[in-house]
Amino acid sequence: AAKDKGRNQFCYFTRAMQQNAQNRRQLLRDLAGALGQRQFLLHYQPIVELATGRVRKGEALIRWMHPSLGLIGPGEFIPLAEDAGIIVGIGDWVFREAARQAALWRASHHADFQISVNVSPAQFAAEGLSHDEWLAHLQQLDLPGHSIVVEITERLLMDTNPEVRNKLLAFRDAGIQVALDDFGTGYSSLSYLKKFDIDYIKIDQSFVRNLGPDTDDMALCEAIIVMAHKLGLKVIAEGVETIDQRDLLIRAGCDYGQGYLFSAPLAAEKFSVFLESFA
Ligand code: C2E
Ligand code: MG
Ligand code: MG
Ligand code: MG
Repeated sequence: AAKDKGRNQFCYFTRAMQQNAQNRRQLLRDLAGALGQRQFLLHYQPIVELATGRVRKGEALIRWMHPSLGLIGPGEFIPLAEDAGIIVGIGDWVFREAARQAALWRASHHADFQISVNVSPAQFAAEGLSHDEWLAHLQQLDLPGHSIVVEITERLLMDTNPEVRNKLLAFRDAGIQVALDDFGTGYSSLSYLKKFDIDYIKIDQSFVRNLGPDTDDMALCEAIIVMAHKLGLKVIAEGVETIDQRDLLIRAGCDYGQGYLFSAPLAAEKFSVFLESFA
C-alpha cells in the first residue's frame, strides 16, 4: 500500500503541460511566486539501519502544493527552478525548514537524529547558497553540524569551479556530512571518492530494482559496498521495495535502506508517528 501511495502522490499531467511552451511559462511564473506564498512543503522518508531496523535518519524531499494543479513532485519543478535561477532561494528554505524539523525530532525522539537535504549543483555556484548563513542558522537552533547530511550528485563533483570545493570544505569543517546521491548513474569516477571527503554513498534505485541472487546488479551492489567500507564510507540503498531486496542487501553488508518497503516519504506529523513505532 505504501508503494501505491508513493507512486500516486503527484499529479503527472504537469509533465504533459511542460511540453507546451505556454503552459511551461505559466508554471514558471507560478513557481517564481511559490516561495513567497508558502506553497512548498517537505516530506520526510525514513532511512532505516538495516541490521537493527532502527530509524535515526530521514531525507527531506520537497513538494509544491500548486493552488490549482495540486501536489507537484520535485522531478517536475526542480529542473525548472534551476533553469530559472530561483533554486538558491528554494534551497535555502529547504535547509532552514529541514533543520528546524530536525531540532524538534532530536528533542522529542532521538538526540542523534540526522536529516538529509538534497542540494543542487547550482546552489554551489558563486552566487549560490551562503554557507555562513546556513551555519549561523544551525547555531541559532543549537544544532551540531553532524545533524545535517548534504546530498550531492556525481555531477557536482565534476565541476571544476573552486566554489564547489570551498563550500563542501566549509560544510565539512562545521561537521556537516556529505552523501553521494544516485551513485552509479552519473559519470562516476572513483577518484572523486578519494578527492572529496564523503561520508555516505547512496546506491541508486536502478541497481536495487532488479536485485536477485547472482544477478549483475547484485554483483555491482556487493562491489560498491565492499569498496565503500574499505574507504570508511557507509552505504544507503535507495528504492528498497521488497523484503527480498532488503535481505540481499543485508547479506551484502549494506548499512542503511530507504524505500517504499519501509515507508514512502511522509508529512512531518506522520513521520513522527513512524519514529515512535520504529524506535
Ligand atoms: P533523490 O534524492 O534520489 O530521492 C529519492 C526519490 O526516490 C524520491 O523521489 C523518493 O520519493 C523516491 N523513492 C523513495 N523510495 C522509493 C522506492 O522504494 N521506489 C521508488 N521507485 N522510488 C522511491 P522524489 O521525492 O520525487 O524526489 C525526486 C528527486 O528530486 C530527488 O531524488 C532529488 O534529486 C530531487 N529533490 C527532492 N527534494 C529536493 C530538494 O529539496 N532540493 C533539490 N535540489 N532537489 C530535491
Ligand atoms: Mg537524495
Ligand atoms: Mg537518489
Ligand atoms: Mg570521511
